[in-house]
Amino acid sequence: MTQPTVGYIGLGIMGRGMAHNLLKAGYTLNVWNRTASRMDELASAGATPRTSPADVAAHSDIIIICVSDTPDVVAVIAGVDGVLQGLRAGALVIDMSTISPQTTVELASQVRAKGASMLDAPVSGGSEGAAKGTLSIMVGGDEADFNRALPVFQAMGKNIVLVGAQGAGQTVKLVNQILVVGNALAMSEALLFAQAGGVDVTKALAAVSGGAAGSWMLSNRGPQILNRDWRPGFTIDLQQKDLRLVLAAADDVGVPLPGTALIFQLYRTLQQAGLGHEGNHALVKALEQLARLEINA
Ligand code: NAP
Repeated sequence: MTQPTVGYIGLGIMGRGMAHNLLKAGYTLNVWNRTASRMDELASAGATPRTSPADVAAHSDIIIICVSDTPDVVAVIAGVDGVLQGLRAGALVIDMSTISPQTTVELASQVRAKGASMLDAPVSGGSEGAAKGTLSIMVGGDEADFNRALPVFQAMGKNIVLVGAQGAGQTVKLVNQILVVGNALAMSEALLFAQAGGVDVTKALAAVSGGAAGSWMLSNRGPQILNRDWRPGFTIDLQQKDLRLVLAAADDVGVPLPGTALIFQLYRTLQQAGLGHEGNHALVKALEQLARLEINA
């Protein structure tokens, strides 16, 4: 069977790595990014830069989107020169951004009206997972569309699960984010306590990482905290965007999430301090301010 031509829209921290992996898997790739210079690297690697999301859609069987927030996905799909303007009947749109489950369902119906179909397929695994092709992918949509997209997903990820109908992928991604920030808070409190308790924080981290307290967050972001390396795999601004989505969705279904709401407020203090561009592990700085103590490896 011939491979579909794939389009990729949004070459940020995540999209860049995923697009490279699609090229490595042999796909013919069209790309578009709002800041055009970000397409140069992909063009050098063999992708074809396009002039707009509509232009990508006009030349692609499968169109993947990975941009920041709900209004951005709406703009890229339904805006001026958006995907809907170029979409071919029978094409498949896959949104891999993390956005509102409700808006996802509305966009899917606009895509359907053009004779095409849509999957929501948000990811977890950070910039490392995007670069290595080891992302977890949570997919919402029809099974036939999922099966059609599976080889493309396999070029970008490892744990790929169809979790339900359109919008369900986004809901499960929000489940994922509740777990991520809970882990980030536990890591921050634990490392700060180790520092205050007068132990060597590097040894403390090594001692607990492999046991029942271990986590992806601790193994990947713990060392960054000890090195006071705040470069983002995932920015505080995007983390806060996801928590806003979590709290709105929880409000819709009437479930209290007191822990997540507290972490939302801690991240807000960091945004107010001008740190929104730093990595989400900089959550520890909010606790350091409360404790008037800095972790010092
Ligand atoms: P990023 O590095 O900030 O990149 C954002 C991308 O979206 C850029 O290509 C940006 O274009 C584009 N964009 C934003 N608004 C746009 C608009 N209105 N129109 C067109 N393009 C627009 O973000 P990222 O970390 O790659 O995250 C992308 C998505 O993946 C987000 O939904 C995020 O929540 C999700 N995600 C991220 C991670 C992670 O660890 N980073 C993990 C899982 C999921 P410009 O280059 O022009 O700014």
